[in-house]
Amino acid sequence: MKTPGDVLAFAREKGVKMVDLKFIDLPGIWQHFSVPLAEFNEDTFQEGLGFDGSSIRGFKTINESDMILIPDPETAIIDPFCKVATLSLICNVVDPVTRQKYNRDPRHIAQKAEEYLKSTGIADQSFWGPEAEFFVFDDIRYDQNHYSGYYYIDSVEGIWNSGRNESPNLGYKPRFKEGYFPVPPTDTMQDLRSEMVMTMLEAGVPAECHHHEVATAGQAEIDIKYTTLTRMADYLMIYKYIVKNVARKYNKTATFMPKPLFQDNGSGMHVHQSLWKDGKPLFFDPGGYACLSEMALYYIGGLLKHAPALTAICSPTTNSFKRLVPGYEAPVNLVYSQRNRSAAVRIPVYSGNPKAKRIEYRPPDPSCNPYLAFAAMLMAGIDGIKNKIDPGDPVDMDIYELPAAEAKKIRSVPPSLEQALQALREDHQFLLEGGVFDEDLLNTWIEYKLARECDAVRLRPHPYEFMLYYDV
Ligand code: GLU
Ligand code: MG
Ligand code: MG
Repeated sequence: MKTPGDVLAFAREKGVKMVDLKFIDLPGIWQHFSVPLAEFNEDTFQEGLGFDGSSIRGFKTINESDMILIPDPETAIIDPFCKVATLSLICNVVDPVTRQKYNRDPRHIAQKAEEYLKSTGIADQSFWGPEAEFFVFDDIRYDQNHYSGYYYIDSVEGIWNSGRNESPNLGYKPRFKEGYFPVPPTDTMQDLRSEMVMTMLEAGVPAECHHHEVATAGQAEIDIKYTTLTRMADYLMIYKYIVKNVARKYNKTATFMPKPLFQDNGSGMHVHQSLWKDGKPLFFDPGGYACLSEMALYYIGGLLKHAPALTAICSPTTNSFKRLVPGYEAPVNLVYSQRNRSAAVRIPVYSGNPKAKRIEYRPPDPSCNPYLAFAAMLMAGIDGIKNKIDPGDPVDMDIYELPAAEAKKIRSVPPSLEQALQALREDHQFLLEGGVFDEDLLNTWIEYKLARECDAVRLRPHPYEFMLYYDV
């Protein structure tokens, strides 16, 4: 545990001049402001610092806009990208009058979910291992000529217009969906990813591995060693910050939007998860299917039962549903399996270490707010355990080879964000248990997503409509 005194000593040792306070808006983007170190002392960690919450997406209305940030000393790092030495702190949001933690602060919800797990007596800790994929593109500000064709694949030839400067053509390009994963010169992003990983390690984020991903070019994944729920969500915020800012240094941009390219793989964020009690893993049983304990199967039962509602939080953008289609290693079917990558829950092969026994939930993508997504998945899993929800039989066969009558019985992820939000409206009691989520937060989320995203996309003429309809 780091104390405020530890953090200030660390700041002085590093020659810090500025303190940057970061917090998470409802959709999951970091917001920040800074104060000189001289304005900051041990009391600031209790008293906090005020800001106007009225312009923050999903937060308060203008007539009740004042809010307080309380920095969490555990999150202190040196910001890797500031020229002026800057201490970075992740904060909780607090109401200035009641001094209560704000019910729409995503970080608070993640913390409540961890407390709720303990209070059930089922487990005292959950471990989280997300695999956030992303694309790196040439920065269009530096490559304006390619702007017009940026997002499209030539649908006749199946040739990807990458937005890269293709002339002269130097060869060694990844072939269609063969990005996973030839060595350089085909892989042009080795140093870029290494610099991202080294920057993460310096910032205390335990990155373990980096590689190119399957999409034809420019897709990457960096994996982080598993840890507890809120801490992992904090790590993911730092992860995205570092990925985007290192890309920027190389005159590139990085995007976590789930499906930037038609007809190529999208970016998922599979989430490995397990429960522990008294330092012992609870998901392992050598006699169970895929060495899973009964508790793990019930946890899966909860995830699968609530999966349609969960997609509204774990795959929460209109673009997410362009990824959740067959043929691109993204899950579609609400089943579990040791092998099947189209299954929503995959059980990684048993490594011989009971501590590594975990399940992988595949529908999430990195456009989610990780605090809300991890909290929601945990709540679904706990609901499964408490109510002994049977996940049914595993489906290890290729679903396309099942007899039609069998295949028809398999439930799928919702086809659109609107339908996922509707599922959340109808199925959210499991999220309200223990006061982890509340109606205000969920209604705000649903209304925000419907108005600001679903409607905003639906009302705009789509570029492809010009292809279909311009000549009518
Ligand atoms: N990119 C795939 C997805 O959208 C996952 C590829 C993999 O299995 O790592 O989920
Ligand atoms: Mg991957
Ligand atoms: Mg995976």
